[in-house]
Amino acid sequence: MSLKCNLGFHSWDRCKCSVCGKTRDEQHNWSANCEKCSICGKTREKQHKWGKWDSDCKCSICGKIRDEHHSWHINCEKCSKCGKRRENQHDWTTDCEKCSKCGTTLPNKHDWLTNSERCSRCGKTYSEVIADSLNQNGANYELILSKITDQKIFAKIACTNKHRRIIQMAINKIDDQSLLKSIVFSAHEDFAGELAVEKIKDVKVLTEICDFALGNHEDGIKINLSTRTMNLIIAANDFDPSLVEKLKVMLPKIHDLCSTEDTSHGGITYYQFYSEWITAAKAILESVD
Ligand SMILES: [Zn+2]
Ligand SMILES: [Zn+2]
Ligand SMILES: [Zn+2]
Ligand SMILES: [Zn+2]
Ligand SMILES: [Zn+2]
Ligand SMILES: [Zn+2]
Repeated sequence: MSLKCNLGFHSWDRCKCSVCGKTRDEQHNWSANCEKCSICGKTREKQHKWGKWDSDCKCSICGKIRDEHHSWHINCEKCSKCGKRRENQHDWTTDCEKCSKCGTTLPNKHDWLTNSERCSRCGKTYSEVIADSLNQNGANYELILSKITDQKIFAKIACTNKHRRIIQMAINKIDDQSLLKSIVFSAHEDFAGELAVEKIKDVKVLTEICDFALGNHEDGIKINLSTRTMNLIIAANDFDPSLVEKLKVMLPKIHDLCSTEDTSHGGITYYQFYSEWITAAKAILESVD
């Protein structure tokens, strides 16, 4: 032992003397492992911090990983916190190409060999698979839509998609009047309803839509819809008596609404907002007088 060390003057590098190797119980280095000093090997307990709720697999201080509490919700087979992998955990029973638990996708897994319209493994139809693929990045909409033949699938696309161009292309493929009506009543995007209305020729269906829109007359988009529908009804020159009665009640109410104190609605006055509607309603009422 060196003389300095013998006299008690150790050359401390944190917890260990760099000359004689003596250790002291201070200035340990826990950075690589919260529970074991990387210089002298001293251990301690319950020092890791396993995430905010003590429920992770990885210590947020030193990065140590424990083989429990992994996070499989983003990917059933790969822990999103530590990267650990496991096998055969995805659920492909409802869709061969998309796990129903985590949403992971795999290409080209459906089996069209026994039936070209329906996958023999998961039961999805070809059209449904095509419709799903519209939502993938970089999808070629026109090519995908050209492969669909089932009008119900087009209606489903029109009701659930968010892209105006896709919705428009889907609606262009639909003639079925009740499917068009269902788009007006339940589409996620209001303009899908407006586009669908333009393709409806059945005056009875138009009258039902007009009723629906009048029932929501505080909603400007619905009033716009009823204006479009009324114009189509006028063009068809076929007025349902129940609609005429409804317009007789609505017209004075809308006039009142236009003359109320607070007349602005997103920068437009109520009158501007409803003037087209009033014109269409008056045209119908004048035609039956
Ligand atoms: Zn020493
Ligand atoms: Zn130490
Ligand atoms: Zn730790
Ligand atoms: Zn993990
Ligand atoms: Zn999964
Ligand atoms: Zn399948």
